[in-house]
Amino acid sequence: MSFTPIPSLWAVRHEEDRPAMIPEEAVSRVLASTDIVQLIGSYLPLRPAGRYHKALCPFHTEKTPSFIVNPERQIFHCFGCGEGGDSIGFLMRQQRLSFPEAVRFLADRAGINLPARFSGASGPGRGEEGRLQLLEIHNAAAGFFRQQLAHQTDGAAGRAYLRGRGIPESVVEQFGLGCAPASWEGLLRHLLRRDFSKEQVERAGLAIARKEGGGAYDRFRNRLMIPICDSSGKVIAFGGRTLDGSDPKYLNSPETSIYKKGAHLFGLHLAASSIRDRGLVIVVEGYFDLIALHIHGFQHSVAVLGTALTAEQIALLRRYTTRALLVFDPDAAGIAAARRSVESLLNSGLDWRVILLPEGKDPDRFLQERGASGFSDALEGSKDLMEFLLDRRVSGFDLISPDGQAAAVNAVLPLLAVVENEITRQRYVEKLARRVALSNDAIVRELNLQMKGRRQDLMPPTLRPKSLPSTEWRLIHLALHHPGAAHRVREAIRPDEMEDQTLRRICESAVMGSRTASGPVSLAMEEPEVQRVLSELLATDLGEYEGEDAIERTLSDCLGWVKARGERRAGEELQQQMKEAERAGDYITLERLQARLLSLKKDQAHRAVQSGREGRGLV
Ligand SMILES: [Zn+2]
Repeated sequence: MSFTPIPSLWAVRHEEDRPAMIPEEAVSRVLASTDIVQLIGSYLPLRPAGRYHKALCPFHTEKTPSFIVNPERQIFHCFGCGEGGDSIGFLMRQQRLSFPEAVRFLADRAGINLPARFSGASGPGRGEEGRLQLLEIHNAAAGFFRQQLAHQTDGAAGRAYLRGRGIPESVVEQFGLGCAPASWEGLLRHLLRRDFSKEQVERAGLAIARKEGGGAYDRFRNRLMIPICDSSGKVIAFGGRTLDGSDPKYLNSPETSIYKKGAHLFGLHLAASSIRDRGLVIVVEGYFDLIALHIHGFQHSVAVLGTALTAEQIALLRRYTTRALLVFDPDAAGIAAARRSVESLLNSGLDWRVILLPEGKDPDRFLQERGASGFSDALEGSKDLMEFLLDRRVSGFDLISPDGQAAAVNAVLPLLAVVENEITRQRYVEKLARRVALSNDAIVRELNLQMKGRRQDLMPPTLRPKSLPSTEWRLIHLALHHPGAAHRVREAIRPDEMEDQTLRRICESAVMGSRTASGPVSLAMEEPEVQRVLSELLATDLGEYEGEDAIERTLSDCLGWVKARGERRAGEELQQQMKEAERAGDYITLERLQARLLSLKKDQAHRAVQSGREGRGLV
């Protein structure tokens, strides 16, 4: 496999935040046997584009792809949000893995055997350890809840509840359902026996500290327990449904460092492959609606839990499909929730359709009564999200009177104004015009007024750095893409002549260090900002320079500029010191400083002449 990481970068690292005890040799072996295009291609639909592959960015919401994968450098970079890195970095962000977990994952994938002590469990910093511990605690708790459900007496209420809901054994297993005992410390005692500390269990949100006496008690008691998993199927939180009628009906885990409300989708780990196969995802609102859909063969379904769809969740879905279908709870709350997220929905790059189930039924009830075929019929009647919203907004107005027409248009315009795609917007304008019996032109005029000031947001992102590149950026850029330039930069400047800290770090490791490189270690071990800027540097083409001459000229200009700035700073510094020496009456020092300033000026003049000659020589 052809794969040329910049060897130098990997040689220098911050010792203090070295992410793991995994030997570098193992990390480089894992990276060398991973093809980043294949890896990322298994999560996103990548399309070849010249020497790169492109996709919609999984880390921010966009409609035009600015996420690229560069097979030559084995890196990814998003020109929209700036995320970037190597295969390990991608997995860490995409799957929310720690560094060792990501290395372990790739090793398994490539069939490389890492010694067990280098597995994720060996953990690097305290943060990572905490995260792994949280995952272990949740895993142990899920096991405990399952045991409880199987227990003859303790699990009786839970089993009766599931029977009542018509949930078969196979589905109970698939979702890992369990139950929390009615006692105050059942889970806590179990976890303490498993060598977890009380504080760890509290941090996981599974126990609550008592106000007095220093003890703790279980958060979930006498509840049917539903594990919430991340997209790789690891338990990260729980939802608990009351079994004795106590409030609240549903109790969820609090947020922890592994669980953030609105960042996950319930059931995604079970649904992912079906969503990809069918090219469609069904989104519902609750645990049991989702479980009912799975029971009836709609495996391509996920649920949002207690929030309107967030941008993060939409980005999650977009990794698997471009078509999504919302099943709304027909009650007003459901629709209001959807309206809040309507802007992110409309511009998510996903094609959204909506159904309202007849007679105000939720999916669970509906499926029990009408079965899979009834639900399929309902899906057939789905409506385009925007049309659905237009209909609802317009329906309250008297469309016969001019006042009613105007009011209806005004109610809908804000909705149209958030649609970024012009063709789509035009289509909706036509629909609205027909609906309210006005001309397209009249509506477009009003719409244009509403959209003033939004124009700027409508510019499509291009595959360029976000801000104008600085001289230092250009210099490093040239050095990274052009072996001759790298040599010149190494000869001419020291890393500490770079003022931008991130670029200084990259200069140090990726440009200067190449002579001492011992082999590639992951870019994911670098600071996030270094990963972002370096992947940007590597992903940006040299195209704009058009030929060796232009490269040579730009390089000379940039080097000259950095040198000149250094000399100017040094001159200012000397003059400052001279002023102080004069004030102090220290004429010996003053004389010494004057001599230095003079020689600096000579150097400056000399370099100016030289760079002039070089410049002419190139023409
Ligand atoms: Zn992005």
